[in-house]
Amino acid sequence: MRHLATETKEPERQKESITDEMPKTYDAHTQEKRWQATWDKLQTYRYDPADTTRPAYSIDTPPPYPSGDFHMGNALNWCYFDFVARYKRLRGYNVHFPQGWDCHGLPTEVRAETTYKIRKRDLGAAEFRDLCKRLTLQYIDQMKSAMKAIGYSIDWSLEYRTMDPSYYRLTQLSFVELYAINKLYRGVHPVNWCPRCETAIAEAEVEYAEKEGNLVYIKFQVEGGHLLIATSRAELLPACVGVAVHPDDDRYKKYVGKWIEIPLFQRRVNIIADDGVDQNFGTGVVMICTFGDKTDVRWQNKHNLPIINAFTENGLTTEETGKFKGMTIAECKSSIISDLREEGLVEKSESIKQNTGTCWRCHTPVEILSRRQWFMKTREMTDDVLKWTEKVSWVPQFSKKRMIDWATSLDWDWVISRQRIFGTPIPAWTCRKCGETVVARRDWLPVDPKSEKPKDCKCPKCGSTELEGENDVMDTWMDSSITCAVHAGWPDSISFDRLFPADLQPNGLDIIRTWDYYLMVKHLALFKKAPYKTVLVNGMVRGTDGRMMHKSYGNYVDANDVMKKYGADALRQWAAAGGVTGYDLPFRWSDIDYGRKFLTKLWNASRLTIMSLENYDPKADYELQGIDLWILDKLEDLTLKATDAFENFEFSVAVEAIRNFTWHLFCDQYLEAVKHRLYSLEPKDEKSRRAAQKTLSTVLLQILQLLAPICPHIVECIYEKMRIPKKKESLHQIGWPTPHPEHKNQAYEEEGDLLVAVISAIRRLKSEKGISMKTPIKKLGVYCEERDGQVLEKNSSTITKTCNVDSIVIGRLNGDSEARPVEGYSVKIKEEST
Ligand SMILES: [Zn+2]
Ligand SMILES: [Zn+2]
Repeated sequence: MRHLATETKEPERQKESITDEMPKTYDAHTQEKRWQATWDKLQTYRYDPADTTRPAYSIDTPPPYPSGDFHMGNALNWCYFDFVARYKRLRGYNVHFPQGWDCHGLPTEVRAETTYKIRKRDLGAAEFRDLCKRLTLQYIDQMKSAMKAIGYSIDWSLEYRTMDPSYYRLTQLSFVELYAINKLYRGVHPVNWCPRCETAIAEAEVEYAEKEGNLVYIKFQVEGGHLLIATSRAELLPACVGVAVHPDDDRYKKYVGKWIEIPLFQRRVNIIADDGVDQNFGTGVVMICTFGDKTDVRWQNKHNLPIINAFTENGLTTEETGKFKGMTIAECKSSIISDLREEGLVEKSESIKQNTGTCWRCHTPVEILSRRQWFMKTREMTDDVLKWTEKVSWVPQFSKKRMIDWATSLDWDWVISRQRIFGTPIPAWTCRKCGETVVARRDWLPVDPKSEKPKDCKCPKCGSTELEGENDVMDTWMDSSITCAVHAGWPDSISFDRLFPADLQPNGLDIIRTWDYYLMVKHLALFKKAPYKTVLVNGMVRGTDGRMMHKSYGNYVDANDVMKKYGADALRQWAAAGGVTGYDLPFRWSDIDYGRKFLTKLWNASRLTIMSLENYDPKADYELQGIDLWILDKLEDLTLKATDAFENFEFSVAVEAIRNFTWHLFCDQYLEAVKHRLYSLEPKDEKSRRAAQKTLSTVLLQILQLLAPICPHIVECIYEKMRIPKKKESLHQIGWPTPHPEHKNQAYEEEGDLLVAVISAIRRLKSEKGISMKTPIKKLGVYCEERDGQVLEKNSSTITKTCNVDSIVIGRLNGDSEARPVEGYSVKIKEEST
């Protein structure tokens, strides 16, 4: 057997030859790219549909909007998905980790308009759709390359795009199925409307922001005088259909049932009593308009008031506004107020802060319009949603409440039609003669009714052939709310039940009300059960200034920039360590830097370990020493802790435990304490040397296994260099460490803790005295109780060789007050004069 050491303790010649194999420094950029290519080649992350021996684990990856950007918030989301995917794969699961792209919808249309400096109506629909597609493909490429560079173990063979006919066939199929079971209807109902984007939007797409407004007190004429009404929406005067007061308001009781005249418009409406009126707001008298807000909608229904549409769908005033016709909403407002002032009808005005609903995409204040739309009957499903929400496991727990609060807060059904171009066509036609709705049959799909007629081309009710194709498209959530079923192979797969419901539904805290909710209602309606078993929620990433990360705040950090500086494994550690699932996470460069420092530490320790294993014969006899038993005991603790943490999605607990063990126990203590054994040439030390080699090999491999979900690249590079029998091509194929209960022993742990404490205390003593670690101490005295004395005597060579002590006296305590105490133990240490 060849010995590593020749003359000196760390032979330079040996090091040189091995340096070729394991470079002195770890080059993250080169290595990460190399391994990503290897994984592609080996198909390491392929889901194998033919493999029915391993249990399946399905992740319902939310398909993102292809925006082109991949910021640290995105990076965090996908890191969470990937930690789980990698952990489960190591645990022996056949992991289904697809990646889709939610292409359709407002954001892309808005960006196509700004990128190509056009408005959609300047082009034909087909031409505009092509521009949207082109932009989308380009954005997908950008995002995909960032995702690959971060090392996400996505099975790219499962990639899909919702704009492809193969996918939108399924969106249309879900529409057809829902229509068949009477879950969809068409009707004229008020909807939230964005006048800029010229489309209906769902309640989930309305964002509330506090805006400065002006409350204007306007005089309304009544019989024998006037009443003051305070409003911030003077532009709605032409749409006023009634005035309301509280029935208990003594100031106004006498006016109930009387007429009141709308100023400037000379139109009379009734004063009605409604206990929904807030007596303390303004003057306690309010206008009811078509439709100022949801309360107006409720009152219009309840009191059976007429509807006056004062605004068109692109936010301009209609004929109903008389001389104000053709103005924007803002122009109409200021013109009406100035006319009122001229006629002396404004008593006063005051500024107020108002909670205003705005379009989530363009931030224009939304209006409420009444228009013919398609709806899904979601309100009647609320009880069912709540029942299934309880059956799902929510991580963290409070995210369940978000879902419940949202489901119970909805007043209106889900409006699923959109007046857009880039969307899945609604597969329906209307008979021009009798108004009958004709919905496509399953085998007609995919279909675009704007350009295609129904196959038999006749109205089933009146026989007319004049069928008009639906012009509207579907809300993009109609595309993305069936992913759980689509991933499982619906409707064609025979092994649907293996992947449905999804084991994991991971998403951000901000999209519980959309993603989790829409998935729930769609799948409940179609499949009668919740589409996911566990929801894992990540918080939002805040910028370095503590605010939400946003381009306009200048605190936006692109994941590519972090990668360029630090590589993927450092970024991934930040995501794991950053916090608790569901809570906001600050971005700090120093955290990423700490991740890189850890990788350097791990690399150096691995290099030393692997060099020392060159002549290791795993079959030869060995004799474990106290310090070996100690690190194996601690390793077992670590494995149990990390396993538990990954099972519970506590990534910060896992990464901290692994980093602390590696850095402080393995590198700082154990490696230092066994170096002398590795380099010993004494035949009597043979078994102890092999024990150190065996332990090092065991511990290092296990650190790599535990770290694999978080730092998948560096662990491969180290594993590649290890001399292990029956080695696999990738560490990610070797599985999770198996428990070793035989390594747990309280005596090993206590003895090793004592040993490590004494070694640390001797090092401290040396450094305080200004003695270099390499300079020997001629004679050292260690004094302690009887039991500890025996342990130290047994392990005295570990102490002397680790600390470079020529001779050691292990005595029993005799009350020597000058000796140095060792933390946590009744041990005193002092340098003895010779
Ligand atoms: Zn908008
Ligand atoms: Zn007809």
